[in-house]
Amino acid sequence: MSRNRAPRPPRRSPTPSGPQRKDSGGPPSSRSPSPSPSSNSAHGEEGGNGVREKPLYLCSPFADAALVKGNFKTIVMLPKYTDIMEWVAVNMFDFYTNLNEFYGVISETCTQATCPTMSGGPTLNYVWTHQGGKQVMLPAPTYIDYVMTSIQNLIDDENIFPTKTNQPFHPSFPATIRTVYRQLLRVFAHIYHAHYPAILHLRSEPHFNSLFAHFLAFGREYELLEVRDIKGGDGNGNGKGEVGVGLLWERWKEKGILEG
Ligand SMILES: [Zn+2]
Repeated sequence: MSRNRAPRPPRRSPTPSGPQRKDSGGPPSSRSPSPSPSSNSAHGEEGGNGVREKPLYLCSPFADAALVKGNFKTIVMLPKYTDIMEWVAVNMFDFYTNLNEFYGVISETCTQATCPTMSGGPTLNYVWTHQGGKQVMLPAPTYIDYVMTSIQNLIDDENIFPTKTNQPFHPSFPATIRTVYRQLLRVFAHIYHAHYPAILHLRSEPHFNSLFAHFLAFGREYELLEVRDIKGGDGNGNGKGEVGVGLLWERWKEKGILEG
């Protein structure tokens, strides 16, 4: 039940000077190599039992400021001397961890009754594709549990997310990451579409917006974001409708928060 609410702590430090954390049973912290001094708290680092005691919105000054200034380009750029695969891996891990924590906080409002489908827009319902290719409609909480569990399994797979220095990434890593990105985008789309009142109730909208804008900017920079996935409406075969957050994406581009 709570499997996807408390991601495992990261198992390695991505850079020699990055934050190091052992499996201690404490709340997970960011695996990020800290593009800014406060990035660990940028999207909240409370996990597990800590979520309810200290809401994420109390931890977001950096994210708020970044959203106002609209300088997401600077925090997604590849730092010097950093391997691009490693940079993508640690950032995707962070997006997964932070989104998982957000979903954990609002998941009481996402049930089979409230969300019988994985909606992402007024006329859009995502379809889950099983490994054999069979497509099924799932309730949103089931769909999201599948997404989060599958990503956790990838992260735990040494062949896909190597934890040893100089261990090469698998040739399929870029394709795997694109799939992970697309699934995380769907979770964002569902939360925005179906649960934004819960985000507002928590006063987490600046924080959640910042996480999403960061996610979009990162996807643009590393060619993970497909226009058809953010806008929907045609060609993706997973729904006829438009993606609700496609409008948010357009708005942020108009405002200069994201690159055009
Ligand atoms: Zn829902």
